[in-house]
Amino acid sequence: MAKIELQNIAHSYNPQAPEQNYALNPFNMTWEDGGRYAILGPSGCGKTTMLNIMSGIVQPSEGNLLFDGVDVTKLSTSQRNIAQVFQFPVIYGTMSVEQNLAFPLVCRNYEKPAIDAKVNEVAEALGLKELLKKSANRLTADQKQLISLGRGLVRDDVAAVLMDEPLTVIDPDLKFRLRRQLKEINQKYRSTLIYVTHDQNEAMTFAEKVIVMDAGRIVQVGTPKELFERPKTTFVGYFIGAPAMNFFRCERDGAYSLRFGGNTITTQTNLSDVSSSQLKLGIRSEYIKIVDAVGQNTISVQVQRVEDLGNHKLVSAVANDLEIKVKVHRDTAIPAEYVHLDFPAENCCVYADETLVEN
Ligand code: ATP
Repeated sequence: MAKIELQNIAHSYNPQAPEQNYALNPFNMTWEDGGRYAILGPSGCGKTTMLNIMSGIVQPSEGNLLFDGVDVTKLSTSQRNIAQVFQFPVIYGTMSVEQNLAFPLVCRNYEKPAIDAKVNEVAEALGLKELLKKSANRLTADQKQLISLGRGLVRDDVAAVLMDEPLTVIDPDLKFRLRRQLKEINQKYRSTLIYVTHDQNEAMTFAEKVIVMDAGRIVQVGTPKELFERPKTTFVGYFIGAPAMNFFRCERDGAYSLRFGGNTITTQTNLSDVSSSQLKLGIRSEYIKIVDAVGQNTISVQVQRVEDLGNHKLVSAVANDLEIKVKVHRDTAIPAEYVHLDFPAENCCVYADETLVEN
């Protein structure tokens, strides 16, 4: 596997006027050797374009790709040694599972004992050992997709395994098992896995690092915890989490405080140098607490709706024109129609012009 660097990469499918038509705006990104990544974003934001640039299916309009420091921008897909798994399994139906897995090694003239050893090892890791002699045609969709993946893993020289929505055709209950298997494989082989999805759940449960994209730009690279706790933009706060982060338009009210809807909330963000008037307070529904009494960071609200989410209750409340979502444990009592909500300062994020104020 290799460290992959994308340097000033940009792409337009319209070479006549690239700057007005970037599918991917210029960016830099480094994928560490052995890392487990997810590229997450809404449809059309450029996820597949980024993946195809790495594999060589798409030549970028600008910039360079380096694998372990070597410039591979002009190299073909096969010269780059990338394995790609697509939405739909690509396998040879007339071959057995064993022949499918062995195929990349046979093509590269490996000796039979080396092929057998590697095929057995990968089949074991993927739970395909019992199926080795079976015709690939007779397998279920998830088994076929495992073969696609296995064909990438049998080769020691693969720089990275790129997966484009690989679990789309898989039943929901099997998706969970396959994601777990992928994680185990990453830990066992230290193979660089890059997984494209528009499903935040998939991204957050699979990856060590998630690359969030919007409209042809990388908006945040972070661990699932960082994306949840400190979204760098309001877009990330909306896109990640269920429900989306609460956001309130507000005004500055002192070095660390904000005012909205007649309430003053103290944060841990120093706002002294913030000149923008476009301020928002963001707080996750999971961090807001229902409390008995008015306190320093409380606001009074009217409960409108309580939904049972199984393990949690989702409380929808209003204060003047503000709508607030609060997620509490299922055993938490909602004491009355009018309650006080506490906004812990450490969980309050401040956004100026939709971007997190960091200090
Ligand atoms: P999806 O989740 O729907 O697959 P995506 O995030 O993978 O979307 P891309 O497929 O990379 O996004 O597309 C990014 C932008 O580039 C979109 O506006 C898309 O319409 C455009 N695009 C993609 N492929 C081509 C192409 N071959 N020719 C012209 N435009 C393209």
